[in-house]
Amino acid sequence: MQQILVQKFGGTSVQSEENRNYVMQHIKNALMNDHKVIVVVSALGRKPDPYATDSLLDLVDFPKNYNSSRELDILMSCGEKIASVVLSNELKKNHIRASALTGAQAGFITSDDFNEAKIKEVKPNRVFEAFKEHDVVVVAGFQGQTSDGDITTIGRGGSDTTAAAIGAAVNAERIEIFTDVNGIMTADPNMVRAARPLDIVTYTEISNLAYQGAKVIHPRAVEIAMQAKIPMRVRSTYIEDEGTLITASRIQELGTDIPDRLITGIAHMTSITQISVQTKDETDGLQSEVFKAMAESGISVDFINISPTGVLYTVPDSQTDKAVRILKTMGFYPEITRNCAKVSAVGAGMTGVPGVASKIVQSLTDAGVQILQSADSHTTIWVLIHEDDVKVAVNALHDVFALNIAEEKLV
Ligand code: ASP
Ligand code: MG
Repeated sequence: MQQILVQKFGGTSVQSEENRNYVMQHIKNALMNDHKVIVVVSALGRKPDPYATDSLLDLVDFPKNYNSSRELDILMSCGEKIASVVLSNELKKNHIRASALTGAQAGFITSDDFNEAKIKEVKPNRVFEAFKEHDVVVVAGFQGQTSDGDITTIGRGGSDTTAAAIGAAVNAERIEIFTDVNGIMTADPNMVRAARPLDIVTYTEISNLAYQGAKVIHPRAVEIAMQAKIPMRVRSTYIEDEGTLITASRIQELGTDIPDRLITGIAHMTSITQISVQTKDETDGLQSEVFKAMAESGISVDFINISPTGVLYTVPDSQTDKAVRILKTMGFYPEITRNCAKVSAVGAGMTGVPGVASKIVQSLTDAGVQILQSADSHTTIWVLIHEDDVKVAVNALHDVFALNIAEEKLV
């Protein structure tokens, strides 16, 4: 059989007939290159468009009168189902042999964690069956069903994950994520004027950037494609540019010995609170008690620093009050700093290279940014700062690593 290409189109790309004409063109190009195409769609548009996910949620006053997560999934799955049929119909009008399938029909079996279900397996038999008669199979994103036949959705922004999982299941040649920006940027362009789209990034880099606040692709999708070793592209629906290629290794891809960049991109996340719990003497078990209490209350903690007489960590601002209440009932007097931001510098090339952290600290200090906490792994350095400093900090790091200059021009 011909090679299969997966093309995923986000909500704005399928919002109007005008936008869907661009979608159609990308599908036609893939067919002209002799591919079979699995098209994964999100729900049409954004609220207040009538079939956007948030508009469907408004029909039941979510989250105010929210009673059944199982029923919410029946409702939410409709947005993508509608989109799949609308697009399939337009493809047929254009004489393209197309067929639409719901997530369940396309073989998505999930856990029963309604609203946040985990994909357990994808059995794409019906997709292959459909390819006997059709050239394009349009799959409704963001959904599946349990082994008992209950409809599920897989978490907000989940259509990217649908595309990656079906791509892995059919061993697609490539997974293309079409969106309204021209690929993955070196930083948030709303914050950094010099930000520019990246030609190639590694799976590890982009999943770190995505987990740390870059919104262009769902990190789970990247992990699935990485495991299946399928290259991805993130590109704009509206222009011809190829966007960003996501792959295992830049060196391999470029066929040169240009080393990986120290830093590829800067991501940021705001609305974080730093919590410090200290005692005068070394108290046995303080650390484990605190984190156990947080975990039991479903509070997600980050940036954990442990010392013999205390712990320092962060929680989302939305969970601060709850965390403080719990700590007080345990007899602690936490010190809190609200409105912090986490800035992350991500790059596959920093592994084993000395001096990257010191360069970051130096440039932030020179820019007058106070660092409240920091941490690092072999591909990411994180700093916690006051939210008011975030724009200055992201720009300072973007400048010091010369991210405005394309890679080829550095050598
Ligand atoms: N429509 C769903 C959402 O808004 C899934 C997606 O767009 O990826 O979260
Ligand atoms: Mg999305």
